[in-house]
Amino acid sequence: MLRWAEVHLDRLLYNYRQVEKLSGPKKLIAVVKANAYGHGSVAVARFLQEQTAVSAFAVATYAEGVQLREAGIQRPIIVMSSTLEEELGRAREFRLMPVVYDFWELERAKELEVPFHVKLDTGMGRLGFLPSQWQELLCSLRGAKLAGVMTHFPSADEDPEFTAGQAKLFGEFVKALKGAFPKLWVHCDNSAALPLGLNGLFTHSRVGLALYGSKPFGGYPASLKQVMEVKARIISVKELPPGHSVSYGRTYTTSGKERVGVVSFGYADGLPRSLSGRGSFIVNGRRCPIRGRVCMDMTVISLEGVVAGKGGVATVTGLELPFEELARLAGTIPYELMCRISPRVERVYR
Ligand code: PLP
Repeated sequence: MLRWAEVHLDRLLYNYRQVEKLSGPKKLIAVVKANAYGHGSVAVARFLQEQTAVSAFAVATYAEGVQLREAGIQRPIIVMSSTLEEELGRAREFRLMPVVYDFWELERAKELEVPFHVKLDTGMGRLGFLPSQWQELLCSLRGAKLAGVMTHFPSADEDPEFTAGQAKLFGEFVKALKGAFPKLWVHCDNSAALPLGLNGLFTHSRVGLALYGSKPFGGYPASLKQVMEVKARIISVKELPPGHSVSYGRTYTTSGKERVGVVSFGYADGLPRSLSGRGSFIVNGRRCPIRGRVCMDMTVISLEGVVAGKGGVATVTGLELPFEELARLAGTIPYELMCRISPRVERVYR
């Protein structure tokens, strides 16, 4: 294999147990949208279904939900976005629970008689009923197959006060609803919100990032292990003479003789091009700086002082070089980097 992503399921289970502790009495909904943040949604959901008491899986689209059902996933599946007319039909056929976020959807879900969750906008400004619509919503929900109610926190990682305000507002709606729907699932917490210990009415937490082993903020009170290790082979090693330029745009020139390796991993595989001349890979335990621009399929690294030849293995990210570090350097977030690991990088489950 030229490039692959090892997905360590033992670490997924370890993180799951850590998240369970943080979540306390609230049960867990595992967020496996976007191919389980690049880890492979079928493998991740199957594993969690077999090994844990996970309550449900959350995906973003009906296609993602259908894929899980066809792979034998039996636990409830919540579809958190993208509800259109042609998709709703699949909710009943595949027992997928829509997240209803406007009155049109609410009417359709009632007609179809499918259980659904309802989403409130308490400050995200994306999907969901605004507080000005809640009175009408409460009336419209009478007699509906309402299975859950949720909201989403946009800044639990950096603004606990705003988040607590959202939880309070949301709690008021939930109180008004609970009497009519005593078995209602109530869920808001994402990974960042788990340690905030918010509103006791919540029954479930919806967690993604922490399961995959990245911390949403520094000082996060759980030890997590990055589940994915991305590796690629060195396909060429040579010694460049002094004054030789490297890669497109010739942004790097050797100052003396330099041993370089060409690693079979580029931006088409998910390495941000902004790491050109900034990031590094690990070879035989040593950090090897990226030289020049990241290319579509390849990246050149310095192998000065490193014992490695053609066919050697470079680690692009893993326990020693986590997504958090790459994301900081690339000016993005671990979520984006995980999702971007391309399908041509074969997933290998350990
Ligand atoms: N809930 C919703 C609606 C989301 O969009 C996401 C992630 O983007 C999550 C929960 C999970 O968040 P996290 O991965 O930070 O735990």
